[in-house]
Amino acid sequence: MSKKIVLPGEELSTAEEFEGRENTFQDDGIVFSDSIGEAEFDSGNYEVKVKKAKPLKIFTPGTKVYAVVSAVRKNYVLVSMREAYAGTEKRVLTRGSATIMVSMIAQGYVRDIRDAFRVGDIIVAEVEAIKPYGVNLRTNKPDLGVIRAYCSKCRTPLHMVQEKLMCTNCGSVEKRKTGSGYILK
Ligand SMILES: [Zn+2]
Repeated sequence: MSKKIVLPGEELSTAEEFEGRENTFQDDGIVFSDSIGEAEFDSGNYEVKVKKAKPLKIFTPGTKVYAVVSAVRKNYVLVSMREAYAGTEKRVLTRGSATIMVSMIAQGYVRDIRDAFRVGDIIVAEVEAIKPYGVNLRTNKPDLGVIRAYCSKCRTPLHMVQEKLMCTNCGSVEKRKTGSGYILK
């Protein structure tokens, strides 16, 4: 049995060589695939069928996104999205970057956005909205926020010690909007 990935309308064989089975159609003596999937050529039985590929699920509002903070502005931060999950199921990211507005960062009021995020921080966020001109994320839930932060003075990863973020290298103490999954403790 040989296999190959095929697209809808792709020619598989002549009807003389292989008889078309599931997810194929025949036209003028040629067998075609009608789906995206894996064509299986069974040369013992002279049959070809296509096993449909699982549809790719893209990210949607509510999906969790892992991202890196790329810029901190006065009223929003820009992040570069790396991976998306709905529960444990991986989702396909169809965009690269996203925005978190200051009002969507924490449950309380954020006076200085740099007390919540710094460039290079790794965060977990939730997709709030996907619009033609951009993706908005939120971190205003206890489990969302920074999961790995770097010292703004010496770039050492910060440890969470008694609910404070401390640099074990230079002693700097910093603030972030951390998520419950903060990595270094
Ligand atoms: Zn430091």
